[in-house]
Amino acid sequence: MVPVVVVHGGAGTALTCEELCKLGVQEAALAGYHVLQQGGSALDAAEAAVIHLENNPIYNAGCGSALNELKDVEMDALIVDGRTLDCGAVAAVRRIANPITLSRLVMEKTNHVCLAGEGASKFAKAMGIKEVSEESLRTEYSIKMWEKTRHFNEGSDQSEESKSGTVGAVVLDSKGDLASATSTGGIVKKMVGRVGDTPMIGCGGFADNLVGAASATGHGEAIMKVTLSRLVIFHMEQGMSPSQAADTALEYMNTRVKGKGGIIVISKSGEWTAKCNTKRMAWATVKDGILHYGSQHGEHNTKPLANPSGHS
Ligand code: ASP
Repeated sequence: MVPVVVVHGGAGTALTCEELCKLGVQEAALAGYHVLQQGGSALDAAEAAVIHLENNPIYNAGCGSALNELKDVEMDALIVDGRTLDCGAVAAVRRIANPITLSRLVMEKTNHVCLAGEGASKFAKAMGIKEVSEESLRTEYSIKMWEKTRHFNEGSDQSEESKSGTVGAVVLDSKGDLASATSTGGIVKKMVGRVGDTPMIGCGGFADNLVGAASATGHGEAIMKVTLSRLVIFHMEQGMSPSQAADTALEYMNTRVKGKGGIIVISKSGEWTAKCNTKRMAWATVKDGILHYGSQHGEHNTKPLANPSGHS
């Protein structure tokens, strides 16, 4: 099987530092691809790509996360293993650098699928994950966005106007295994304890070796109502290509619940797509020695990899 890595850096009207955002997703896709070249699994590669983006302060995940109504960071993440449908999620977790790694530990070390809030923090501690300060997760930009954004309960549709930058990755490895990983700080000025689509299985992400893998971004409340990632996979089960399935599901979300967002998808045979019904979504893909990337609606650039085999 030809391996494929697709990543996104969030859907929205305007991207924070568009050029940097485009660069960051390319680097993350290459980081995931590198893990595959070193013999890592789809799961390892998806986690590595998302860690790369969580550590980059321009995205709304890990450091750089959107701030809630109290100016604090509460993060959501989900990882799904397409081999077994095993999944792990954390919701409204605080003071850790990489929620995606904690979600993988939930999947691999507990009998549960999702841990939230204080329970997630307690588990992180038990797993030896270092607690970081609230300040280390805030950035000048996230504070500026908090100051200029209306309150979550004031009726604003934040999917179009607020900072985007949720991050996600879907990966197919050479064994034919699929994985999906997604991580976010959520929505600016969200209520304390608000949990979005990201850690909800089949909403923020999904992966099934029998069909494909997806990772979503956009207005979480809308994504949850239509279970966006599972809807895309359902359309593929019914015979649609990833591109048709993504278009159909995004159109349904828009007409049914006025939902705006985007999704990246890989099929079990390695067909892939990156689609949004917002103006922008930064994405990047590595397949067959070519790096594909774009951010504006319909934009698609390519460049050959400098070192496609990974051998130095
Ligand atoms: N889906 C995320 C949430 O609602 C936000 C985003 O993707 O921009 O929490």
